[in-house]
Amino acid sequence: MKRALSGRVAVVTGASSGIGEAIARALAAGGARVGLIARRADRLDEIAASLGAKGHVARPFVADVRDRNSLTEVAGAVSGELGRVDCLVNNAGMMLLSRVEERSFEEWRTMIETNLVGAVETTTAFIDQLTDGGGDVVNISSSAGGRARPASSMYSATKAALNAWADGLRQEVADRGVRVIVVKPGAVHSELVEHISDEELREKARDTRQRVRALDAEDIARVVTFAVTQPEHMSVSELLVRPT
Ligand code: NDP
Repeated sequence: MKRALSGRVAVVTGASSGIGEAIARALAAGGARVGLIARRADRLDEIAASLGAKGHVARPFVADVRDRNSLTEVAGAVSGELGRVDCLVNNAGMMLLSRVEERSFEEWRTMIETNLVGAVETTTAFIDQLTDGGGDVVNISSSAGGRARPASSMYSATKAALNAWADGLRQEVADRGVRVIVVKPGAVHSELVEHISDEELREKARDTRQRVRALDAEDIARVVTFAVTQPEHMSVSELLVRPT
């Protein structure tokens, strides 16, 4: 029997734009009560209000996934307002492309702290709720985690490390009914590339998305919905999704 979304409580990090927003909208439309996590309060408020206007339940929770204390607070606040979280989507991420000679130490550190440590610490903040009855941890990785390119070396490293961590986690928590799912998208239209500080690399990333007819955020949301609604005995552990 499929695991329905109605009656479930989901939390999505990086829900203020792009893939995270689309996932949050899809899970809420399916009947889950959804906690939206990101730093931009105005965006979260708008998304929660637009979902509320459609009769769905979504609440904004402002937090930075690099701040362990704020994650602990949010984990308590979500369960207090919405109930036990049984679906966590680790989606918050940054792709700050740069070549080694640029010495972008701060950007490399930001990606490690957001894409890898952020996902690990968010999961840790919610792990007791997830194991207390089972659920899903979805990690939005990237096709870049399996194949690095020039200037994506550190971004790819964070996603490859996320994949390895998720594979270990999957085996640690399976006996408590928690499924760990890794989704690896190729190019998707979103704000991701707009944060690249190197103008040439930013323009190139934009061009690639036009040239290959990048995926839409909603395409990834459909894949996540598919994975988390499979019957409890079935774990969709990894999904690689590319533009055709
Ligand atoms: P966006 O830039 O649109 O979304 C990124 C989200 O992450 C935003 O909601 C942002 O919210 C949030 N975020 C960033 N840093 C933090 C932080 N420190 N704490 C909390 N939230 C944070 O890009 P996408 O939707 O494309 O990216 C989502 C995920 O998908 C990322 O992990 C990315 O690596 C992955 N991905 C994207 C691909 C693409 O081509 N677009 C391809 C493969 C994977 P705020 O700024 O409000 O905090």
